[in-house]
Amino acid sequence: MSEATVSRLRERLDVVRERISAAARKSGREAEDVRLLVASKYYDASQMEALREAGVRLVGENRAEDLISKQEEFAESFEWHFIGHVQRRKARLVVPRVEMIHSVDSVRLVEELAKRAGERPVEVLLQVNVSGEESKYGVPESEVEALLEAAAGSGGKVDVRGFMTLAPLVERPEDVRYVFARLREVRDRLRASWRGDFDLQELSMGMSDDYAVAVEEGSTIVRIGRVLIEEGGPVRRQE
Ligand SMILES: *Cc1c(COP(=O)(O)O)cnc(C)c1O
Repeated sequence: MSEATVSRLRERLDVVRERISAAARKSGREAEDVRLLVASKYYDASQMEALREAGVRLVGENRAEDLISKQEEFAESFEWHFIGHVQRRKARLVVPRVEMIHSVDSVRLVEELAKRAGERPVEVLLQVNVSGEESKYGVPESEVEALLEAAAGSGGKVDVRGFMTLAPLVERPEDVRYVFARLREVRDRLRASWRGDFDLQELSMGMSDDYAVAVEEGSTIVRIGRVLIEEGGPVRRQE
């Protein structure tokens, strides 16, 4: 991995971090309240070194196979989260390898994760399809409570830390602000009634195009990919 690649990556990360802190301040929070997760699906195993050298600590993988092959060399270099759809038959591969699964969207998956939990509980976020757009993944708001019940019934094996959403693709990030605001409202409402079981503090929302808006609306984890690799990303397009 060339020095130039690493320093370009560092610059882009700096821009993203600055925008995150500005947005956090706007919402009355601190930069430290928001974690930057790099969506590492854009990097093959040989490119993970650049992420490490550029100071990335938290990465999110979409596929069990990639997670396994990248961890052969880099298991200790990062904190690993899983952000892609979890196939139930792969749950046993994913669970021991990650600190958090962002994309839990069925009662059956909650039950499978409970079965695969080791000594410590499996930390998860429930993926909610807020916008109601045609999407294969994520549960509608009306089904979230069923997932919380399944997790509460797992005898402490599945710990729900909060919620995740994918906003629809739009031209202007302002057009998806309502999605992030809505997920925060869902979180606040459920937090009150589930206090005894779960903390529900995390909101995993915001990607390359819309992370600043997501942070303004309360995101605690942004998942950033394209903007770190594309020309015309935030390094060029400084606002
Ligand atoms: C790829 C991916 C991201 C990052 O998206 P970008 O638009 O590349 O920033 C975030 N979340 C999930 C679940 C992803 O698959």
